[in-house]
Amino acid sequence: MIIVKTADQIRRMKLAGRITGEALYLAREMVKEGVTTKQIDDKIRQHIEKCGAKPSFLGYGGFPASACISINNEVIHGIPSPNRVLKEGDIVKIDVGAFIGGFHGDSANTFGVGKIAPEAQRLIDVTKHSFELGVAAINVEAGRIGDIGNAIDTYVRENGFSTVKKYVGHGVGADLHEDPNVPNFGTAGRGARLCRGMTIAIEPMVNMGGPEVIERPDHWTVVTKDGSLSAHYEHSVALTADGVILLTKVD
Ligand code: MG
Ligand code: MG
Repeated sequence: MIIVKTADQIRRMKLAGRITGEALYLAREMVKEGVTTKQIDDKIRQHIEKCGAKPSFLGYGGFPASACISINNEVIHGIPSPNRVLKEGDIVKIDVGAFIGGFHGDSANTFGVGKIAPEAQRLIDVTKHSFELGVAAINVEAGRIGDIGNAIDTYVRENGFSTVKKYVGHGVGADLHEDPNVPNFGTAGRGARLCRGMTIAIEPMVNMGGPEVIERPDHWTVVTKDGSLSAHYEHSVALTADGVILLTKVD
């Protein structure tokens, strides 16, 4: 069931979104050669707790950290570790959530460590722009969920990359994952109707090679089946009478 939010609830979601966005911004500043993913996770947790919020991911389904940090061919759900040291040329996906005032924020981005390969940069740029096209495809009054995924997938395929099909965006609110699913592929004009008050996390996961993914034996980390690089970009967004608001965007 899709839970439509009131204007007051969306105001509260802006606070959760801002704290989430700030944590991701601080994490970005730490992405340098020699830093461990655990150090980045610690910084994220400190910021979220300093703001009086709770890390949404900590303990979610048993997840042991505050952020998912995934490197290179890891797509999502990487577990921060003191043994994972960033090195020049890596691309790092950081996915963060914060819960406060009864609501969650959820946001992710991909960052290069030092100098990265031009094709890796193109993957990151295409992923971010596919998100922007997904947002641009939203018609709050008359659209459907499939409009978003169609815009994302069409652009990604035009650029020779592929969208992950097994994991998708989602409604976000009092629960981290609510209805509806928001796939990064689909048919325009199909799927759940969009309307004012919907709050959803749009999150293209884009692989340089094929769309297939597998789960590592740690039961968390999702990696590309063909070993190719993957990028991720996510904001929680609210559909309102004034258009689409990016709740987790701070920079
Ligand atoms: Mg996320
Ligand atoms: Mg999400």
